[in-house]
Amino acid sequence: MVILANDGISTAALEALENEGFRVINTRVAQQQLIPFIQEHEVSALLVRSATQVGRDVIDACPGLKLIGRAGVGVDNIDVGYARKKGLHVVNTPEASSDSVAELVFAHLYGGARFLHEANRNMPLEGDLHFNALKKSFQGGTELRGKTLGIIGFGRIGKAVARIALGAGMKVVFADRNASEERIRLEFYDGQSVEFTLHPSSMEQLLSTSDFVTLHVPSQEDPVIGQKELRMMKEGAALVNTSRGGVIDEVALVEALDAGKIRFAGLDVFASEPRPEVQLLMHPRLSLTPHIGASTLEAQERIGKELAAQVIALLK
Ligand code: NAD
Repeated sequence: MVILANDGISTAALEALENEGFRVINTRVAQQQLIPFIQEHEVSALLVRSATQVGRDVIDACPGLKLIGRAGVGVDNIDVGYARKKGLHVVNTPEASSDSVAELVFAHLYGGARFLHEANRNMPLEGDLHFNALKKSFQGGTELRGKTLGIIGFGRIGKAVARIALGAGMKVVFADRNASEERIRLEFYDGQSVEFTLHPSSMEQLLSTSDFVTLHVPSQEDPVIGQKELRMMKEGAALVNTSRGGVIDEVALVEALDAGKIRFAGLDVFASEPRPEVQLLMHPRLSLTPHIGASTLEAQERIGKELAAQVIALLK
């Protein structure tokens, strides 16, 4: 059986699949060439990350496809309902990247709170005057310890973020569509652990009390944070989004940043990927990463193994 890994695949997954006798084509076929390529190579399983779009056109034109595998969490680039209706397996790896995404949230939070992105951009090659001016402009950083972190969307990643925040001495509040009391267990390197019980907040409560807000919801039709929600936030609060671009109204965010209402924001995902709106780029109060939440060696290893195990179990 032939497997097309169209957005890259980890070495561990490649080896696991090849050891089971699958032929894996590890390449990047352009979206326009995808259908003829699958047909010509009689591909049975198509493995993607977030770049390749697997819509009805691909599913209808490639009846030989038996499985679509998403190496990652969000399946918004796949027409899952239609694929399943047509009898295809659709699998993803929801658990594997939570800790990596959660750590990226803190990279943005600690970085933004101390102006790292802007300091890096502006470090002068020479000259004490520039150095001292820069030093002066980046005074007024803040600590995270003792501050309140508001987590919107308390699923796998939201909870992983909560564990880090509690360990870092932050107060955690959360809001979720399916709100219920949650127990969060922090496990330390020496085997000891401690459990926290958290109670859900309303969005209004969360926005009006949090010093930092982070989003961990799936892609949805309307933004979760728009002008109205930004107005509800504390003066000088910060915002991080590593979930999906459309969940923040980017125009309203830039206005709130320019007005000083939001002190800084960290974005890993954008409404228009792979070409984020130009007003977001080089904004002094925006720390940006190109959708790398799951892009750690550890997460990719786990994702690859998890996906390969599912493909083997379903197609063998
Ligand atoms: P999850 O399904 O475990 O949790 C999502 C939670 O959001 C659920 O508890 C749900 O009830 C809640 N929710 C949905 N809509 C809501 C709303 N409007 N208000 C409040 N709560 C709402 O998902 P997860 O694994 O934690 O992933 C979260 C997001 O992170 C997804 O969008 C996923 O695509 C994204 N993600 C991004 C990266 C990256 O590289 N940046 C990597 C992995 C996942």
